Amino acid sequence: MTTELRDKVGIVTGGTSGIGRDAAVLFAKAGAKVVVAGRREAEGKETIDLVRAAGGEGLFVRTDVSKAADVQALVQKTVEKFGRLDIAFNNAGIEGNWMPIAEQSEEDWDRTIDINLKSVWLSLKYQIRQMLKQGGGGAIVNMASVAGLIGSAGAATYCASKHGVMGLTKAAALENARSGIRVNVVCPAVIETPMGERLFGEPEFKKFALGLHPIGRFGSPMEVAQAVLWMCSDRASFMTGQSLVLDGGFLAGPNSPA
Ligand code: NAD
Repeated sequence: MTTELRDKVGIVTGGTSGIGRDAAVLFAKAGAKVVVAGRREAEGKETIDLVRAAGGEGLFVRTDVSKAADVQALVQKTVEKFGRLDIAFNNAGIEGNWMPIAEQSEEDWDRTIDINLKSVWLSLKYQIRQMLKQGGGGAIVNMASVAGLIGSAGAATYCASKHGVMGLTKAAALENARSGIRVNVVCPAVIETPMGERLFGEPEFKKFALGLHPIGRFGSPMEVAQAVLWMCSDRASFMTGQSLVLDGGFLAGPNSPA
């Protein structure tokens, strides 16, 4: 157990697997009470079991983050159970269907934008409302990706959604800087999660993707969770409106042959 988030109350969206699950457990280990939001009941309960096993307190709230009523209820239930809201990690997201724009359907676009971008706007809206009601103060970290900073052929909608999260983060940070609510964004390259496996699990794609990471491996969900914990803690008290890139050297420049 550590104490970086002692007495804080936090929400983690998409906490039913991958990065969100590790972040929820790490937040709990750091002393936070954690509300895990996701669509899948059984997996949500598994995360709460892990939170409790880590010595923490948690609550699972079934939430589709693309639905305003669900996100509003999530914040409400957090406050009902734990009395306040101090931190949030808006992490839920999908990869959508990766294919050229000319072949993509309007439904794909709408679904990916709703789950990856509209959801962050909804989360910010209700989380910030609550934080302001409490008199200000708080820390929010949104999930983007290296795809929020560069393009990727075949992943236009995903890239657009993550670039959108970058813009939302900056605007929200500016609007709330004087209220002591910090808003930042994290941009990982490929991380070993169910999503990472879906996208890059095939040997051919894995080889290609590994070649983009000068460090020679993909990241782990816990490496992202550790950075997000720091961004949510008071140790990051002068950071707002910023992005933190966790990419094993991906964006530093062209990789040299192994
Ligand atoms: P994951 O698929 O394991 O986790 C995503 C979580 O979001 C799942 O628990 C899923 O159920 C949840 N979710 C999806 N739609 C939702 C909705 N409408 N409402 C509530 N929850 C919903 O994948 P992950 O890799 O842990 O992804 C987490 C975030 O990290 C995503 O936003 C993703 O875009 C981002 N990301 C992932 C990688 C990677 O390589 N894995 C890299 C950069 C960014």
